[in-house]
Amino acid sequence: AISDRIEDVEPQVQAFLHIDLEYAKAQAKRIDQLPAHELERLPLAGVPIAIKDNMTTTAMPTTAGSKILEGFMAPYNATVVNRLEAAGAIIIGKTNLDEFAMGSSTEHSAYHVTRNPWDLERVPGGSSGGSAAAVAAQMVPAALGSDTGGSIRQPASYCGVTGFKPTYGRVSRYGLIAFASSLDQIGPLTRSVDDAWLLYQVIAGHDPFDATSLTQPVEPRTAEPVQWNQLRIGIPKEYDGEGLDPRVQERYHQVLSTLEAQGAKLIEISLPHTHYAIATYYLVAPAEASSNLSRFDGVRYGYRAQGNDLLEMYERTRAEGFGPEVIRRILLGTHALSAGYYDAYYLKAQKVRTLIRQDFETAFGQVDVILTPTTPDIAFKFGEKSQDPLQMYLSDVFTVTANLAGIPGISTPAGLISGIPVGIQWLGPALQENRLLQIARGFE
Ligand code: GLN
Repeated sequence: AISDRIEDVEPQVQAFLHIDLEYAKAQAKRIDQLPAHELERLPLAGVPIAIKDNMTTTAMPTTAGSKILEGFMAPYNATVVNRLEAAGAIIIGKTNLDEFAMGSSTEHSAYHVTRNPWDLERVPGGSSGGSAAAVAAQMVPAALGSDTGGSIRQPASYCGVTGFKPTYGRVSRYGLIAFASSLDQIGPLTRSVDDAWLLYQVIAGHDPFDATSLTQPVEPRTAEPVQWNQLRIGIPKEYDGEGLDPRVQERYHQVLSTLEAQGAKLIEISLPHTHYAIATYYLVAPAEASSNLSRFDGVRYGYRAQGNDLLEMYERTRAEGFGPEVIRRILLGTHALSAGYYDAYYLKAQKVRTLIRQDFETAFGQVDVILTPTTPDIAFKFGEKSQDPLQMYLSDVFTVTANLAGIPGISTPAGLISGIPVGIQWLGPALQENRLLQIARGFE
């Protein structure tokens, strides 16, 4: 039973911030009692699913991994939660994350770290580290994560699972605690591409509660295989070299040879503005975060500190409620947005963002899909990067570009390096999720 598995491995892995098996059992009972003709229509009937704890649930607390939201009970479910439950899924718990999804290792959670099930000395990646670890440790077959700069794909790569970030706007952000609203996207973490596809079909599609939700219809899943000899795969030269762990590079090159042997055409492409991606992302994301996090004032949500007057209460609440990485982002973001610096930093970053998007548009004129390593390295050890924010930021170099461009990306497992998983990343044109998933599935 799922509860036995959780009992066995969760004490070591600590993927969850909250587990509610009573709630899960009640849901399972409700589904069991449905008449057969209704059950048949539920694509996820009885499937246990874990939700990253930055998506709201009325049945369980939502903390976003922050002390400032300790004990917070949301008044409504995120749209994705409603859609999963309507499809018969059983939400069993909320998974750990870097505070407000800011990080790449889950070490920035205000509660505890999550361990990589492949090696408990190593991080699971982040910020959706709890979701990736829960799937990798086989506590659940699927989980939801959120991806602002790689937070689904990077932990998927580190934990040897599949992680899919759809096109920006495909999945409703209603009920997702906002980090950087123009980059945030919810997606599944699963053990196979087909499972990710199935979950995606359930959660995607227009939602009037999210102003940036796309209205284009979500096409049904296909069983059709890929015709490798008709496929043009773009290999961006900027993703293959400096800063890339030679062992990851070797695996990546082996994958490329295999694809070539299957008949795919590999085409070298250039995404020339990749070099500026980290700098651009770490201006845009903190700028939006600084604005989004202003709502945590001790009045409307969660934690409140004592103060002699209103201002002191605000200041103490935020100083005590936010962890150091979140405070760093607020400082970076407010600086980039402040008068006198706005043009030099924020506006400049927005312009480079456009160039990055154009790089992809040009590339997709030549190729069907782009293949890159997901991360420049494999899962690192606890503490290795947490003292040096810049080192941590650099592990996002291959993932942030998809968020800046709004395009879909998926990380799938590509074998092991000394017993530690490594992933590859497939990127596709906006709204071409089905094509992308079909290709990624063909190779897994
Ligand atoms: N690691 C990146 C950051 O810290 C991405 C996080 C994310 O995608 N939520 O901002």
